Amino acid sequence: MFKKIIAILILCLAAYTSIKTQLPLDNFIDNPTNKEFSNKKAFNHVQQLGHAAHSVGTDFHETAASYIIDELEKLGLDVQTQEGNSFSDWGTFAKVKNISARIKGTDNSKALVLMSHYDSAGHSSKGASDAASGVATVLEGIRAFIAEGHSHKNDIIILFTDGEELGLNGARLFVKEHPWTKDIGLILNFEARGSGGPSFTLVETTDGNAVLMNEFIKANPTFPVANSLAYSIYKKLPNDTDLTVFRKEANIQGFNFAFIDDHYDYHAALDTPERLDNNTLSHQASYLMPLLAHFSNANLNNLSSTKNNVYFNSPLGMHSYPFTWILPLVIIALVLFILIFIYGKRHKKLKGKEISKGFFALFSTLIINGVIGFFGWKLILRIYPHYNEILHGFTYNGHLYILFFVLLSLSITFYIYKKVYTSTNTKELLLAPIVVWIVLNFVISQVLEGASFFVIPLFFALGLFFFLLQKEKPNLFAMTLLCLPAIFILVPFIPQFPIALGLKIVVSTSILTVLLFGLLLPVFGFIRRKKSLGHILLFASCIVFIIAHLNNEFTPEQPKPNSLVYLQDNDTEKSYWLTYDNILDNWNETYFKEALSENICVKFGSKYNTKFSKIAIAESINIPKSIINISVDTVINNERKIRLCILPERKLNNIDINSETRKIFNDFSINGTPISTKIESKFFNDKSPKLATYYVVNKEPLELSFSIHKDSIPHIELIEVSHDLLSNKFLNVPKREDNMIPKPFVINDAVLVKNTINFNE
Ligand SMILES: [Zn+2]
Repeated sequence: MFKKIIAILILCLAAYTSIKTQLPLDNFIDNPTNKEFSNKKAFNHVQQLGHAAHSVGTDFHETAASYIIDELEKLGLDVQTQEGNSFSDWGTFAKVKNISARIKGTDNSKALVLMSHYDSAGHSSKGASDAASGVATVLEGIRAFIAEGHSHKNDIIILFTDGEELGLNGARLFVKEHPWTKDIGLILNFEARGSGGPSFTLVETTDGNAVLMNEFIKANPTFPVANSLAYSIYKKLPNDTDLTVFRKEANIQGFNFAFIDDHYDYHAALDTPERLDNNTLSHQASYLMPLLAHFSNANLNNLSSTKNNVYFNSPLGMHSYPFTWILPLVIIALVLFILIFIYGKRHKKLKGKEISKGFFALFSTLIINGVIGFFGWKLILRIYPHYNEILHGFTYNGHLYILFFVLLSLSITFYIYKKVYTSTNTKELLLAPIVVWIVLNFVISQVLEGASFFVIPLFFALGLFFFLLQKEKPNLFAMTLLCLPAIFILVPFIPQFPIALGLKIVVSTSILTVLLFGLLLPVFGFIRRKKSLGHILLFASCIVFIIAHLNNEFTPEQPKPNSLVYLQDNDTEKSYWLTYDNILDNWNETYFKEALSENICVKFGSKYNTKFSKIAIAESINIPKSIINISVDTVINNERKIRLCILPERKLNNIDINSETRKIFNDFSINGTPISTKIESKFFNDKSPKLATYYVVNKEPLELSFSIHKDSIPHIELIEVSHDLLSNKFLNVPKREDNMIPKPFVINDAVLVKNTINFNE
């Protein structure tokens, strides 16, 4: 009994450490000498940059740029800025300003780039994590590197891009126009999609990852969190970091280091320095420093490869092997299984009836937990409909729900296995999970090669299976030890999927928990008090659910994201209130007492394609119209050329330029820079009238020029956007209450003016 408790405790401890040891502790870099990375100094940069919103065009954006330039100059570096217009595949157009500096190496070799972006996401994010944390990591890292005084062969380029949040505009400008692009051998990019948790290494490769990963392992970062499963998924998704632009446009490879936990802080007013986890910041440094030392001297000419590696991290470090081993390993596992099975049959150790009980137990557990995981979250959303106001789908108490589903799955599993358990059938019960894992690994080898390292726990399970056939009751501690690889490799993935992709896929947590349990049967199988354990786990899951319930409401710590927008339609001379909220609150409900049923035609791009949910008539306050000057309107050889200037009479953040006649333009320029109006993509299609979103920088007026066939009639609609709803004297919108924040990912707190330009026929 005592032994069994110890064994369970060891497994629990291993599970706990597999998650907790992924990133450094808070005081990882404590009291460093001047030549080491100082977390304190880095955090100071985060505080300086992250105390106010600094998206492109805002006042603090300029301040942030000056701060960074000053800091680089303090290091004795020659700082460059690159300013220019940039149009993205998303249709965003802005004048952006990249900041860079170059440190000469001893050889005339390829350069290593340390990159992050310094703009924050509009409209309310303070950008402390995304990506002041990245800027701070690079600034402090390069300071420590210079102080250390090591010589290095490769040039080091520090690049802080602008306009990443608009549509990677700064990176595009750099790749297209900067002469240094051709010198780049490798990029290390620091990013964030949340405010905590481990930072994941995502390799951005032009072809295979083998050389890059081998070099990464040689560089020997202290807390590597890198696995080829994430790599495979990342490759399949349409990803969008600055690094993607460098890969696509210039064939340049690199590593992204991005933390993704606490997603609720992302792009929100909650992205403040206080909410950035200190150990997460340390984790970024724990990548930068060894990789900077390694890659500043490595040969950056030969980093491409046609070969791919499977790789993963464990508490022992990084492990990797070639893709070519994937199928052979599964086949070896299968052959081993068959041999062990024949051995067991010959020695009359495997009873058919007990084996079928094992399959029954495993499949019923998988089905029940699958159903609970799948419908459970939908049910929770019914009980707490206000969770839907969090658009990305990870609630403030989301971690508790993950724990709830883990505990519930385990308790159900113990109850079911209690039914089939006898004191001698553990070996037969283990057979079903082994078969399922063999099938799973075979499927993985065909469709998701990066996850192939899941074969490692399978080999340990086969070893355990063999021991169990040899001895009725093998040493429990020996078996516990052999179960550890399964825990170390699989446990981090149990919470990871919903953290990465939202609680809607919490079913992955339930299923993976059961699959892991199967591999741990050599220990759990011998525990006689399964029912009591089931009770304890069920009780624990109830407690966790209650704690989640007690934390379900919006509070100042976990505020409700809400929205309100004012629209003045100059075409119809009507004004409206609009919101994206399904559940209104004290702050915005008064505006929708008499909500209209009609839908008006204004559309904005938003990350989750969110549509306005409510609309109501608003009083008109005559927001000043922009002055529209048509300076050129001539016809030469059947071609009509038009040039016009839009002079805003108020401070604008951006102007959406829409056209129902997108395809009639022979050419189209914004402020002298030609853009394409003919591309077809997710953002440009027949359903969307979008031409471009122009971000106003330095109050520069918007100048459009285009040519069309002389008989065509152009249609151009402008929607002018300012995010100053709350400071508009005439609208008098009160401040939000403490337990509310502006809803991110949608247009918000905005005063919009819609206007169709009249062209003479
Ligand atoms: Zn970012």
